[in-house]
Amino acid sequence: MKYDWELKYNCWQCGACCRAIKCRFLKDNKCTIYETRPKVCRIGFAKPADMSVEDYLALTEEACHKLEALYPGEKDGV
Ligand code: SF4
Ligand code: SF4
Repeated sequence: MKYDWELKYNCWQCGACCRAIKCRFLKDNKCTIYETRPKVCRIGFAKPADMSVEDYLALTEEACHKLEALYPGEKDGV
């Protein structure tokens, strides 16, 4: 499978995706292994080959909002 490693996504760093899986590498709402984080943490990893970048990013943003609502941060929702 081919991944789009360069895919840019405007992540607003809420940390909800990391809280959702109770990742032990999340400290103070930051990924402590960001440069070497696994493939599954990289936005291009899950993009279906037959989906446009625009549709994928829109779907991702929608999912992020849902995750943020389900896994709010401890301070001010961050
Ligand atoms: S849930 Fe989305 S916006 Fe929040 S940190 Fe994860 S990728 Fe970024
Ligand atoms: S490794 Fe980093 S980016 Fe991946 S879930 Fe854990 S804290 Fe989040």
